[in-house]
Amino acid sequence: MADEEFVVTPYEVRGPVDHDRLREKFGAERLTPEILEGIRSVAGELHPLLRRGIYYSHRDLAALLADHARGRRFFLYSGRGPSGPLHTAHLVPFDLCRWVQEKFDVPMYIQITDDEKFWFRPHLTRSETARWGWENLLDLLAVGFDPKRTHVFFDTRSIAALYPLAVDVAKKVPYSTVRAVFGFPPSQNVGLVFYTALQTVPCFYPSWVAKRAVPCLIPCGIDQDPHFRVTRDIAEGLGYPKPALLLSQMLPGLLGGRVMSTTGDGRDNALFLNDPPKEIDRKIRKAFTGGRASVEEQRRLGATPEICSVWAAWRSKFAPDEAEFTRITEGCRQGTLLCGECKGMLIERVQGFLEEHRARREKVRDYAASLIIDRPPEGAEAPFPPTGGAPASSAGPDGD
Ligand code: SF4
Repeated sequence: MADEEFVVTPYEVRGPVDHDRLREKFGAERLTPEILEGIRSVAGELHPLLRRGIYYSHRDLAALLADHARGRRFFLYSGRGPSGPLHTAHLVPFDLCRWVQEKFDVPMYIQITDDEKFWFRPHLTRSETARWGWENLLDLLAVGFDPKRTHVFFDTRSIAALYPLAVDVAKKVPYSTVRAVFGFPPSQNVGLVFYTALQTVPCFYPSWVAKRAVPCLIPCGIDQDPHFRVTRDIAEGLGYPKPALLLSQMLPGLLGGRVMSTTGDGRDNALFLNDPPKEIDRKIRKAFTGGRASVEEQRRLGATPEICSVWAAWRSKFAPDEAEFTRITEGCRQGTLLCGECKGMLIERVQGFLEEHRARREKVRDYAASLIIDRPPEGAEAPFPPTGGAPASSAGPDGD
């Protein structure tokens, strides 16, 4: 397939994405059975996102696991650019991070990039991206992270903590690199040009705090790989370890596109976490499937799960139990499960999930703000005279 047939950057996904081709193009490694076995040997099992191949690529994960086996603990980092409500596919990296946090007993850093989305989306005001940042943070914490091991950079609130390292990073990243990696036009605002320095900081922050090298693992969509290629290029020059990456495929949308996109009039392409039950029903009922033209034909020939957006939802989130997932997949292929029934089951499952999610979301309100890091660690920078009256704040963990 010619490169021109699809384009993937952190800011644009265009054309029918061939994930294997994209991995090769980006120069990332394939996630092998040996690496999966390394994860299983610690966790005792594999998360469905791993065993079903949704996470399919990596950078330096084998070395990170080998270090972990020798007692060198890593931390997790993932983030969200807040421009609106989250949909279920946004939870993919966070579902995996929560699982890794529990199984490997490691800290988690979440970055809410309200500045990035303000720079990127012309129609959004700064207060809107900050408001969505807070709403999104509640949803992410509701996934079930351990609040004692979870820390948040909320860019416009955390800038005092982020900025010293961002300054170091920015000095190492030439403009030509940013332009080449992200494909920015000459009219690009300078905020977005600088932004990759801010997205790099959480990769190094725990090492900076602990004053020793603390390895970082970033589970994220493969579309975010370009950001971290820049980070990896400059890490060792600044005295920090290169972050390891665990890269997922991008999930298809409900309307049948190869990749879920919710820009423009794409609200029907995804299941949003704030959708009321009737909306969930309506969207799933009209979702693109791999079914046949008639019931009779489907019973006779079976359907094609691999092209079905409903099956993609089962596969990525809503049928974590392997026996159930196999039943759905086989029933689909053999024509014993029809699309109407399958959609009805998914509607019920998603509505139940959202009800529970919203209850968890209310509980995290009590402590979400306390997880935000808003000043640099003590002693990390040249001392300033006390200014007096400083608000209670968090510099984050000390050597977590
Ligand atoms: Fe998709 Fe379910 Fe129909 Fe199969 S039976 S094509 S999984 S909706």
